[in-house]
Amino acid sequence: MKFFAAIGKTDYIKINGYKRGIWEFLEHQPDGWLCSIAFNQAVIPHHSQILWDCGAYTYRHLDVPMLGKNLVTPHWAIHQYKKRSRSGDIIVAPDSLLLGKNLETRIRFNYESARQFIELSKKLEGRIAMAVVHGVSIEARIERALDLYNFGYRAIGIGGLVATASNKQYNTKIIKIITQELRQLPEPIWIHVFGLSSPAYARVFDDINITSFDGASHFKEAFIAGSFFLIKGERLVKYKASKPHENPTVPLCNCLCCQTLRRYGYETRSFGVWQNNLGRAVHNLNQLLIAQKNTENQNKSNYKQLSLIINDCISSA
Ligand SMILES: [Zn+2]
Repeated sequence: MKFFAAIGKTDYIKINGYKRGIWEFLEHQPDGWLCSIAFNQAVIPHHSQILWDCGAYTYRHLDVPMLGKNLVTPHWAIHQYKKRSRSGDIIVAPDSLLLGKNLETRIRFNYESARQFIELSKKLEGRIAMAVVHGVSIEARIERALDLYNFGYRAIGIGGLVATASNKQYNTKIIKIITQELRQLPEPIWIHVFGLSSPAYARVFDDINITSFDGASHFKEAFIAGSFFLIKGERLVKYKASKPHENPTVPLCNCLCCQTLRRYGYETRSFGVWQNNLGRAVHNLNQLLIAQKNTENQNKSNYKQLSLIINDCISSA
């Protein structure tokens, strides 16, 4: 199972006037990155596979999807993906979350968009076209998943479940049923779950043979909660960042990220300037990936074990 780490608009660290991507500060890389076309990333991790997302979360309140002054249509999205993506990347058909009063409009948009997008995507060589399953009921979602398969999609995302993330039983049921249906079809399908990455979910995903999932918790945790994780044995222990100008109480970390930033006067263990806080997010991601690698090396374990470690750390706050 692959983990795509989300990357934002300004996720770079400026050193000596150069914008350096956060991946440069990681000792191990995630399987890929999730980038949205809702904004222009200052730096893009083209060395890895990228899952290009259409920005549905950004325009979630609009019945007619728009990003800036642009109507989000399959043609516009393809144009964006043509400029930004590379061969091997995944590109997502524009979709709309089923929110608000005009659900029918949104459902129709999703259907038409997916239908047109797969044809347009054929012009972009080597890209993997993905469309996202939404629905107001399990039956509607299954029907849509089968539509997407019949349109020709061999990569299908399951979306719209972040709002009900705390209702794990409900979300799990939906994901399991859709996956069972898709796995019975003649051709293999890449199944991605959008925006759920807690340990409990990762366990389920692994059990039911989900292909990939994504998460942005390493950022939220670091910026808002000030969480700072350190590996201890096979676990990640959570500490809290200090207030600006106070001496850090977190033990010193010599990971590639913390060490490099310290050399330039940035302290990841304290709140403060942007570099401190982003550095802490990168440190956290680094610790996750180190833990993942350690587990792999120790017993050639499957992803089930390493995902537990990764996600226990991410979601324990
Ligand atoms: Zn560190």
